[in-house]
Amino acid sequence: MIKQFAAVSVLFWLFVTIVSTIANGRPSVVVIDPGHGGIDRGGIPGLRLAEKDLTLDTAKRLSRILRARSNIKVVMTRDEDTFVSLPARTAIANRYAGANAVFVSIHYNASLREGAYGIETYYNNRRAYRLAVLVHPRAIQAADSRERGIRHRGFRVLRSNRLPAILVECGFMTNRAEAGRIQSARYRERIATAIADGLLQY
Ligand code: ZN
Repeated sequence: MIKQFAAVSVLFWLFVTIVSTIANGRPSVVVIDPGHGGIDRGGIPGLRLAEKDLTLDTAKRLSRILRARSNIKVVMTRDEDTFVSLPARTAIANRYAGANAVFVSIHYNASLREGAYGIETYYNNRRAYRLAVLVHPRAIQAADSRERGIRHRGFRVLRSNRLPAILVECGFMTNRAEAGRIQSARYRERIATAIADGLLQY
């Protein structure tokens, strides 16, 4: 009886190990998508801060950190201040479907309510949810900000994406205190590091 139990335990342990090894296979490719760009400034009209610059800066930091800490292939949907349509962004992502790739879109939030602040993470499917769970709390901690939820929403860049895809709203440009922090390179470096930490745990 004990022998049987031991054999079942060993089998179960083997099963768990194999499944978790497969599930935790680090992505081979990370497609980083800096939100907006070119004629699309992002944010809301009248904002002094240009979301497109903040997203590009954060994305470049994330790319550098991933390259330094892993041999993951990093692909950027844009690496300068150019307009890239949403279908073009997902087309870049979908080239890596089946290549153990994930997609991370970087955004900064804006609200007509000045009091709104914090971090939101959106995802497109179950595998992306697992990635969101790894990235979201780390981003909140890095930003020292408020948790505003992990949400499923049909943003086009997520919806037509065949990769597990998340979109991280890295703080509100319309909240005075948060906007102040967002403007510091240190904040954006911390956010990028947090996202990289989450990706490397995936
Ligand atoms: Zn945005």
